[in-house]
Amino acid sequence: MATLHPKSILSTRELTKTYQSGDHSLTVLDRVSIDVPEGATAAIVGPSGSGKTTLLGLCAGLDRSTSGSVELGGQNISGFNEDQRAKLRSESVGFIFQNFQLMPTLTALENVLVPGELSGTSNGSLIDRAAALLERVGLGERKEHYPNQLSGGEQQRVAIARAFIHQPKILFADEPTGNLDEEASALVETMLFDLNRESGTALVIVTHDLDLAEKASLVFRLKGGKLIE
Ligand code: ADP
Ligand code: MG
Repeated sequence: MATLHPKSILSTRELTKTYQSGDHSLTVLDRVSIDVPEGATAAIVGPSGSGKTTLLGLCAGLDRSTSGSVELGGQNISGFNEDQRAKLRSESVGFIFQNFQLMPTLTALENVLVPGELSGTSNGSLIDRAAALLERVGLGERKEHYPNQLSGGEQQRVAIARAFIHQPKILFADEPTGNLDEEASALVETMLFDLNRESGTALVIVTHDLDLAEKASLVFRLKGGKLIE
């Protein structure tokens, strides 16, 4: 029978993360099950310490769960080893962090090319694509500038261009506007949602910003490591 549900790019089932310290164990993510359809926009919200970054890290293959599963792009990544997860991160997913995480010794253009170099695909067409992405985020004139010559908002736009270099099916962002003023935040948000529409890249964004969460088609609320209604 045909399903009425769109295909998921990301599904977690009973995803759990427990930290052990001595004889004490702390469950920071407790049986979380979410589905994100292809091309969707999802916000993860909740108080500080509720497990938002932990959930994002598990979904993106940055970290391994204690139990439960993550299916990303039709692959169950839960059993992936470090090498398999590194390959997944460099080839199939985009990331944006609160503190940008650009390489200080590389220009804007070189920063956008980093994921390409990691996967050994550096070539002329990749450089053209990186330059076009910088134009797309309004930084066509800043390609040769270093991160310390750019404002926070500009650095985050370089990070957005970098995240899109491989045309990922999904992009994860952890409080992408957390260090930006209102104007820079608005520009970064607009770009993320525009690129979502243009490229069909699903967005999964951790945010405290309720305006940003409102723009998302799905909102997941966490409290004490649990998904709440
Ligand atoms: P959020 O992003 O919602 O603020 P986090 O996912 O960063 O929350 O953290 C959730 C909980 O997990 C917090 O109580 C945090 O202290 C704890 N935690 C995160 N990483 C570790 C770790 N490596 N060891 C022990 N506890 C951790
Ligand atoms: Mg966090």
